[in-house]
Amino acid sequence: MLKVNNIDVYYGNIHALKNVSLEVNEGEIVTLIGANGAGKTTLLKTLSGLLKPKHGTILYNKQQIGGKPAQTIVKNGVIHVPEGRRVFANMTVEENLDLGAYLRKDRDGMKKDLNHVFELFPILKERRKQLAGTLSGGEQQMLAIGRAIMSKPKLLLLDEPSMGLAPLIVQQIFEIIQSINKEGTTILLVEQNAHMALSIADRAYVIETGKIVLSGKAKELQESEEVKAAYLGGI
Ligand code: ATP
Repeated sequence: MLKVNNIDVYYGNIHALKNVSLEVNEGEIVTLIGANGAGKTTLLKTLSGLLKPKHGTILYNKQQIGGKPAQTIVKNGVIHVPEGRRVFANMTVEENLDLGAYLRKDRDGMKKDLNHVFELFPILKERRKQLAGTLSGGEQQMLAIGRAIMSKPKLLLLDEPSMGLAPLIVQQIFEIIQSINKEGTTILLVEQNAHMALSIADRAYVIETGKIVLSGKAKELQESEEVKAAYLGGI
């Protein structure tokens, strides 16, 4: 579904992604793990058209999307949930969810998806008239994911959904990510929480200072001494 081939991305003189290649097959959960500053967010921003690769190609369903405008990429069903759950604080929960569907015209489908979001996140239904800025961090993350669901993603790019959340909430969010995947959405999950990410992913890549240094089945990486030492607190 997604094939990234040898991309290089720069911020001015800073070489943030170095010859990065990775693949996501339809139906998978693939995770990209790495420390702070390794280049995870840069990769997602490049995939969603916010940054342009200097070299290399990004194929999505065999079409080159590298360097295409973000709007074109969104229209193709690649939806990015950015780091730091950027919800519109002064709008209600429901208005935030409606915004996720702004490119859609199928009113019936939208209504169905809104009900589905409320099934996945009952708390959002309870708070649907509340301003998003008054929600807790976990609820805002749920809203950010709910808004993405409203845009009917085929490939969902999730940037650190666990950031700053209590373990119980993280658990809940990760269960929801799994159910979204089971319903047919392919997922690329960027995480610093390697333990949680590897526990739900099919395959994983490890990125260090802009380079992919390891890849494989998530289960295998969970057992790898290198990964255990560097990312799983030596468990
Ligand atoms: P984090 O978990 O902190 O988001 P990350 O793995 O997502 O980390 P990136 O945000 O992709 O890392 O950053 C990769 C590198 O690019 C870092 O060295 C960072 O300092 C640099 N960088 C990121 N954004 C910019 C920017 N706007 N201008 C210049 N350098 C940047």
